[in-house]
Amino acid sequence: MNAGGKNNNISMKTTGSSTNCAEFQAQLPELFESGTDLKEQEHLKTCEQCSALVSDLEYIAQQAKLLLPIHDPSPAVWENIQTSLSSEKQNSGSRPVK
Ligand SMILES: [Zn+2]
Repeated sequence: MNAGGKNNNISMKTTGSSTNCAEFQAQLPELFESGTDLKEQEHLKTCEQCSALVSDLEYIAQQAKLLLPIHDPSPAVWENIQTSLSSEKQNSGSRPVK
């Protein structure tokens, strides 16, 4: 019973981490709102880029709380954060890409 040795397990591409940056960043607003401790997120332990991003967002959120002393940040706050997210993505093209 020789199966021929062909490996059919390569259809699922994995990057080595359970969550990729796009997925993680898409979850960020929810994580913030739910009050989750972002330092406990597995992705942040392995990804410097998102770690720095979260630091920025925490700073923005703190500033927003100072400006708006309410429990829930308004949707406008998240809109601002999303805007700064997308502008950061556009600026991250300086790395040499193979
Ligand atoms: Zn990441």
